[in-house]
Amino acid sequence: MTLLSVESLTAGYGGIPVVRDVSIHVESGEIVALLGANGAGKTTLLHTIAGLIPEIGGTIAVADQKVNGWSTHQIVRQGLSLLPENRGIFFQLTVAENLRLYQRKGGSVSVADVIEYFPALAALLERKAGLLSGGEQQMLSLACRFIADPKLMLIDEMSLGLAPIIFQRMLPVLAQFAADRGVGVLLVEQHVHVALKSASRAYVLNRGELTFSGTAHDLQNQHQFLESNYMGSAKQGE
Ligand code: ATP
Repeated sequence: MTLLSVESLTAGYGGIPVVRDVSIHVESGEIVALLGANGAGKTTLLHTIAGLIPEIGGTIAVADQKVNGWSTHQIVRQGLSLLPENRGIFFQLTVAENLRLYQRKGGSVSVADVIEYFPALAALLERKAGLLSGGEQQMLSLACRFIADPKLMLIDEMSLGLAPIIFQRMLPVLAQFAADRGVGVLLVEQHVHVALKSASRAYVLNRGELTFSGTAHDLQNQHQFLESNYMGSAKQGE
């Protein structure tokens, strides 16, 4: 089943396009990497899909439902869950309170279920999120998205501020959750090679336009292409 279908999407700020004519899709159970240099438009694309920025043109469908013009909370009800760059957890609340806040009413994911994916959270349930380590906070933010029982997850820079080894351990957990429950994941990530190990397919954005669409395996083998899409744009942005 197609959980995200974006057709010819143009989006930006104040009517000025940042992302142009982008078409992507995410299927049930797969992780799709969305890659590109700083400023390529990845976050803009995620925020447009989540209804945080109005689209300028094109269509967006989540779980077979066209969501153009919908507000974020309506799209969330349709099954979308966004993990933003700042982790989107409440630092003054405990781990258990954060989980309760995100739990979907009538959903099929329990606290016990998320603890199976992240056993380390069991001992931290009564601790305030603000007192957790960076890795524990990121574990909690993923757990909060799991417990929302999503159909489609949009993840923005999960590795930000984390030791690479911790990020590398979290990706297989995400892949397992997606496979177990048929969730589709669109993963924005700067750690390209680690992301491509867990992703089945990938897209590359360069200055707002798609320059690659294909399997993660094919992209992994295109070292020169990857370097020019990252280093070239990064240098110009410096
Ligand atoms: P990064 O990896 O640095 O987060 P990105 O690929 O996610 O980069 P975006 O954050 O989507 O890129 O930014 C794309 C372009 O849109 C940049 O040129 C940025 O300056 C511009 N931009 C981002 N947010 C806004 C905003 N609120 N208003 C105007 N322009 C913005």
